[in-house]
Amino acid sequence: MKRLLVTVMLVVIASSALAAASVVPRKNGAESRAQAKSATTSAGVVERRVPNQNTPSLTPSRAPVNALRGAGVVVRGSTVKSAKFRELAKELDTSGLLKDLADGLNEVFVLRQNLGLRFTECGEPNAYYDPETREVSVCFELIEDYYESMADTYDTEDELDDAVAGAFLFVFFHEIGHALIDLLDVPITGREEDAADQLSVWMLVDGEDGDKAVLDAAISFYSGDASEATIDEGDYADEHALNQQRFYNMVCWVYGSDPDGYADLVSDGNLPEARAERCENEYSQLDRSWSKLLEGHLQ
Ligand SMILES: [Zn+2]
Repeated sequence: MKRLLVTVMLVVIASSALAAASVVPRKNGAESRAQAKSATTSAGVVERRVPNQNTPSLTPSRAPVNALRGAGVVVRGSTVKSAKFRELAKELDTSGLLKDLADGLNEVFVLRQNLGLRFTECGEPNAYYDPETREVSVCFELIEDYYESMADTYDTEDELDDAVAGAFLFVFFHEIGHALIDLLDVPITGREEDAADQLSVWMLVDGEDGDKAVLDAAISFYSGDASEATIDEGDYADEHALNQQRFYNMVCWVYGSDPDGYADLVSDGNLPEARAERCENEYSQLDRSWSKLLEGHLQ
């Protein structure tokens, strides 16, 4: 099941659909990001590139049940208020990125209601699922923010495009996680935010570049303002785990999905050995749990 979804990811990444987002003006602003770079370096995450294999076909072998039932994941038009995002909105619309993601999700999940996907202007870098409208919205400001905060971490524009695409995909599937938990009434104990992170990693990690997407997203927690943030009581009280904890969870689960393949995450000092010892079990528990929770909701 995951393989199908990851297939879509790869096509999306391979076709550089999100590279359309590079129309966001690249600001220099190196001064504000100097710290981001050093923080990332201290986190020491090394990019891990898996060679592209053949681009898999997206053609479904049969009509998805959602289409027959008239419910499923649908793309909504983007909402733009200010001129500065108009070009980005157009590029993203014509790229077909959300359509590809919607098609991939419809091939995998059986939904009894529509789930909308949209890019929108929010006034802040964010992405969210709204249970009232049953829509996942990704803000243009979030994509812009990734470009700005991660610019100093990557050497070339292509690497930056890939990293932004990775961070976007992680956040997108995190929000899809919230949506599935709501629409499919998936039982969750513990924090839903942690569960949504798990689901996103679980959907991405088996892919050729999906694991890299998770690592890029993890790095984004150390980029820009996030790297400079001092932790206050509000952060401890927040429904999300601390950025640093989310970083180590994500690295742990990627490592745990393939400890031999990712041995360098430990040897390079990105993942402390004390945590690494538990990661294979953590990932296999996560894998078993989500497989079971989503049973009966798959095409
Ligand atoms: Zn969330």
